[in-house]
Amino acid sequence: CGIIGRVGDGNAIETLLTGLENLEYRGYDSAGVAVQNGAGIDVQKRSGKVEALIDSIEPDAIEGRVGIGHTRWSTHGPPTDENAHPHTDGTEDVAVVHNGIIENYAGLRSQLQAAGYEFTSDTDTEVVPHLIQSYLDGGADNETAFREAIADLEGSYAITAMFSGEHVLYAARQGSPLVVGVEDGEYFLASDVPAFLEYTDSVVYLRDGDVAVVDPDGVEFTDLAGNRVDREPETVEWDP
Ligand code: GLU
Repeated sequence: CGIIGRVGDGNAIETLLTGLENLEYRGYDSAGVAVQNGAGIDVQKRSGKVEALIDSIEPDAIEGRVGIGHTRWSTHGPPTDENAHPHTDGTEDVAVVHNGIIENYAGLRSQLQAAGYEFTSDTDTEVVPHLIQSYLDGGADNETAFREAIADLEGSYAITAMFSGEHVLYAARQGSPLVVGVEDGEYFLASDVPAFLEYTDSVVYLRDGDVAVVDPDGVEFTDLAGNRVDREPETVEWDP
């Protein structure tokens, strides 16, 4: 339902939690965040209100410069803690948030299960981190693994992923909105502008088929095959 992501200096967690609060108006049944904590990816998620998620997070216990957050409106699987996003591959090498519906998830899921990947949720989304992991296991680098996994998906999606050990966010969209917020040395990703409007009003809207690779030095927009596409920032005027 709602996506927020952030790359930059300092701790991402406050921006992520504020972003989730800003996205509450969309309606949701679960919420969660994942940040790069230096040793790996730390995931905190649960069904219920963003407030309950915030209350459950010990101040300073979760820290990192890069992170993603999600408010979920269940389509596949009930609103449980396990079904809340972000979803990981189990070893937490990669974490993923997703809006929309992956229509071909059932086939992908049985294929991945047959190959030994273990699922812990009922969601369509969980195929994405396992697919990415399967490409990593096949020798692909992070960006290639992300692209290959996205190319396997049918349906509608706005997806943001992060990998353990690097300060980069990967995003792709098909049929669900996704926007990059641009600030000096800091970048945001969100399903819609209000998520980060208090930090920047300079935005780039992804189009269907776009992939964005976001690190603290900049954003690169390409199509799924990796060809550069030009996407210029514009200033939004938003009347809350
Ligand atoms: N289909 C996904 C799920 O049920 C994402 C739903 C959403 O857009 O929040 O978890």
